[in-house]
Amino acid sequence: MTEVSVAKDDVPVTGDLVVLKSVNKHFGALHVLQDIDLTITRGEVVVVIGPSGSGKSTLCRAINRLETIDSGDISIDGKPLPQEGKALARLRADVGMVFQSFNLFAHKTVLENVMLGQIKVRKADKKVAEEKARALLDRVGVATQADKYPAQLSGGQQQRVAIARALAMDPKVMLFDEPTSALDPEMINEVLEVMQQLAREGMTMIVVTHEMGFARSAANRVVFMADGRIVEEAVPDQFFSNPRSDRAKDFLSKIL
Ligand code: ADP
Ligand code: MG
Repeated sequence: MTEVSVAKDDVPVTGDLVVLKSVNKHFGALHVLQDIDLTITRGEVVVVIGPSGSGKSTLCRAINRLETIDSGDISIDGKPLPQEGKALARLRADVGMVFQSFNLFAHKTVLENVMLGQIKVRKADKKVAEEKARALLDRVGVATQADKYPAQLSGGQQQRVAIARALAMDPKVMLFDEPTSALDPEMINEVLEVMQQLAREGMTMIVVTHEMGFARSAANRVVFMADGRIVEEAVPDQFFSNPRSDRAKDFLSKIL
């Protein structure tokens, strides 16, 4: 176990939840993840930033086993990632994932989107699943949209439904891969606010984002990636005011 620290609003952070050890991944000749060592403790919010193509999405996908790795180990809550079958489906449910493109089921209503996984993967009773879905839709502020289809919602609303859908599985950790990058500017904050709230409630989160305001206010730690490596890790204040590496300095000078 790594050192015990205290998250925002004094939610205690104890115990390793996601552990990557010497993870390597190639796409042909491209060494996209290079000796990645990363430990995320329970309740921690880690923001991953870095230039396009640095391997951030591949890292997220590896943690959810949407991508295989070539070498190294990944474990969630002390268990190595399962290779396939039901164990893999359960793992995916333990790791909630929210993508840049909302990926809702287009032919299902908002309510059905949030009920489906509960029934299929968690074997929940239909009535129980519906109650939980309605409560979650209320929590992310889209309760009145329950009977609509995704295409009838704004991008910001769709992304909040995607968050509710992931939360319906009671995930141990939530992965967000640039959740606001595809949104119109006026919808970014409504999604970030839901994420801020989750962070305050103590959800363990890995968030790939270029929203530096979110990183400053919600993250316990910033992980900076470049060329498939973790180049630098620091608390947000330190990272933004005093980045150590030239790569991070260069990156920050372009985005801030
Ligand atoms: P980021 O999310 O930081 O922009 P990615 O993890 O998406 O980076 O991609 C890292 C590199 O891997 C990029 O050069 C990208 O083109 C390449 N890549 C990603 N997915 C694949 C794939 N399925 N096949 C081949 N190359 C890929
Ligand atoms: Mg990406």
